Amino acid sequence: MKEFELINRYFKGRGITRRDVNLGIGDDCALVTVPQNCQLAVTTDTLVSGVHFFDDISPRALGHRALAVNLSDLAAMGAEPTWVSVGLTLPNISQQWIEEFTEGMHEIAEYFNVQIIGGDTTQGPLTITICAKGTVPEGKALRRGGAKVGDWVFVTGTLGDAGLAIESRKQGLTIEPEHLKYINNRFDYPTPRVAAGQVLRGLASSAIDVSDGLLADLEHILDMSQVSASINIENIPTSDAMRSSLSFEEQLPYILSYGDDYELLFTVSDDNKSMLDLKLRQYGVEASCIGQIKSGEGQIELLHHGEKFNFEQQGFEHFAKEQV
Ligand code: ADP
Ligand code: MG
Repeated sequence: MKEFELINRYFKGRGITRRDVNLGIGDDCALVTVPQNCQLAVTTDTLVSGVHFFDDISPRALGHRALAVNLSDLAAMGAEPTWVSVGLTLPNISQQWIEEFTEGMHEIAEYFNVQIIGGDTTQGPLTITICAKGTVPEGKALRRGGAKVGDWVFVTGTLGDAGLAIESRKQGLTIEPEHLKYINNRFDYPTPRVAAGQVLRGLASSAIDVSDGLLADLEHILDMSQVSASINIENIPTSDAMRSSLSFEEQLPYILSYGDDYELLFTVSDDNKSMLDLKLRQYGVEASCIGQIKSGEGQIELLHHGEKFNFEQQGFEHFAKEQV
C-alpha cells in the first residue's frame, strides 16, 4: 500500500473532529486554535519494537499503548489532551495489522476526545513516535519541582501490575487465570490518569507519571524539588492480582522499581490535603498516601510499619530503555 493510501484509509476522516482544529490531516501542517488564557503542553514518546514492546504484542494493544503513554505525560502536567500527531515507521506489515493497530489508537483517542491531526509514515523497523498536545490554564501546570518539606506523597491506582505481567510472560510464573487476565490488560492497555491530573491542578505541589518505577520517578521529583522523602511501603497500593500472586517480599521489586504502570505520583501540602481527598472522592479517583516529603538532598527512606527497611534495588533486564 502506498503511503497516501494508508493515510486516507486509516487516518483521514477517521476519529473525532474537534472544533478547535482549523485544518486536520491533508496539508503540510495542521492548524489548531489554543484557547485564550491557556498554555500548550507538548510531549513526545517513541516506542521501538524489541525495546519497548515484544514483537508478539497485539497490534490493537500497541496502538492503544503508544497513545496512552503520551497522554499519561499530559495527565502528569494536569493538561487536557487535545491533539496528536503520529509518526509511523512500518516494516512490510499486513493490512490486517494496520487495521487493528489504528483501531486501538482511534479507540483511546475518541475516549479522551483527542483528534489525530497529522503525522508521518515511513518504511523501516517498527517504530511509533507520537507527539501529543494538550492545553492547561496559564500557570496551572503540575511540575516536578514543587514538592515542599512536610508535603504528603500520593500515588493513584495500584503499582507493579504491568511489571508482573511482563515477568509472568518471561519467567512463566504461575498466576490464576483471572488475575493473569487483569495484569496483562494493565500492561497492554494502560490507562492514562487524565481526570486525576486535572483534579490535581491548583492542589498538588508536584506530579509525575510512574513510567520507570516508583523509586526512580520519585527521585525525579526529589531532585527537581531539592528535598528527600520517607515512604511507608505497607501503604503502597497493590491489586488483588498482585497480593494473591506474590508474597510481600516478592512484591517489592515490582511495586518499588518496575515501571510501565502509568499511575500518577504527586505531592500535596498539609493545607490542601483535605480538599484534595474531597475532590478525589468527588471525581472517583483512587489515590493512596504513601509517605511524606522531608528535608535533604534526594534521599528516599523506606519504612515498614515505622521501622527502617533496606531494599536493594534489583535490576530487571526487562527492556533496554533505561540504557539509552
Ligand atoms: P509531507 O510530505 O508534506 O510531510 P505527507 O505526505 O507526509 O506530507 O503527509 C500528508 C498528510 O498526511 C499530512 O497532513 C500529514 O500530517 C498526514 N500524515 C502522514 N502520516 C500520518 C500518520 N501516520 N498519521 C496521521 N497523519 C499522517
Ligand atoms: Mg511527511
